[in-house]
Amino acid sequence: MFSRILVEQDVLNHPRTKSILERFKTTPVKEINSISEVFQRVKKPYLQKRDDLQLYIGTKKGQLVKKAPNAYGVKGEEHFYFIHSYNCIYECEYCYLQGYFQSPDLVFFINHEEIAEQITDYYNKSNKENIWFHAGEFSDSLALSHITGELPFYFELFKNLPKAKLELRTKSANIKPLLDLEPQDNIIVTFSLSPAHRIKSTDLKTPSLKHRLIAIESLVKKGYRIGIHFDPVIFEDNFSDAYSELLNSLNKVLPEESLEYLSLGVVRFTKDVYHQVKKNYPNSELLGSEFQKTPEGLVRYPRPLRMAMLHRLESLCYESGINKDKVYLCMEDEHFSESNT
Ligand code: SF4
Repeated sequence: MFSRILVEQDVLNHPRTKSILERFKTTPVKEINSISEVFQRVKKPYLQKRDDLQLYIGTKKGQLVKKAPNAYGVKGEEHFYFIHSYNCIYECEYCYLQGYFQSPDLVFFINHEEIAEQITDYYNKSNKENIWFHAGEFSDSLALSHITGELPFYFELFKNLPKAKLELRTKSANIKPLLDLEPQDNIIVTFSLSPAHRIKSTDLKTPSLKHRLIAIESLVKKGYRIGIHFDPVIFEDNFSDAYSELLNSLNKVLPEESLEYLSLGVVRFTKDVYHQVKKNYPNSELLGSEFQKTPEGLVRYPRPLRMAMLHRLESLCYESGINKDKVYLCMEDEHFSESNT
């Protein structure tokens, strides 16, 4: 999986490092002083991840928990995200990570205790009824959780933070670590879903819709609360029929009472990410779309089309029996992360 693993010397003997290295016994390991001295120092083309993917293990310094825009989810509630990993094993053609870091190599930060301290700090200072903490701003929250092994730690943490909710957002079907744990009401597993043909053509290397639906069904049976993101929605002539079919399939595995929320967002890019998409995926179907560039440097559909798509989807959700209070439209322009790409 990795051509080389680079480990900060301070964490070489840390139990979490040892447990990760245990899984890659034949991979060469190099000791480094600090990730920041090496990672991104030389620009590495994004698609090199296909042939030469390195892993860094270390600790993250500074601000580990950051305030998130409202578009992250439930409106009117406070949202934060925390950073315990960079980059992703998947290759969604619209992924904003291809324009964000100078390297596609993976980074695992293992100082979860410090992340927990900062989460608790924000929790104690908040006077809101609910505070959301989102994992995986720069990665997929579950795809490699069997290797990183941090989920039991966060489950324990959130047991003691009853007003807080933890969102684990994924396009994976890697749910074994979750099935080994006991569900908690304040831990929400959210899946980004698109119609099956769209996943196949655009969300490269991600599990199929069928596998994600099976994962949702298993988690529901175990007692987990589930969130759904239809984001990014990509326009095509039959998008309404495709989402109607997707909602039908979802209805079969996800009862309304287990649904925490469903958010809707239309595909959008920063100028830099769009440039990367053109470079990395010149034959992508995305590039045939009728995008407009805005003076602020955004690339997206014209507003009438965005609104028409969102409102059509909203109606489809209601028609499929989802409570109006659970459907959110993601229309914030500033939010260009995994959560809306
Ligand atoms: S959009 Fe999400 S799942 Fe897809 S490659 Fe990017 S981080 Fe990974």
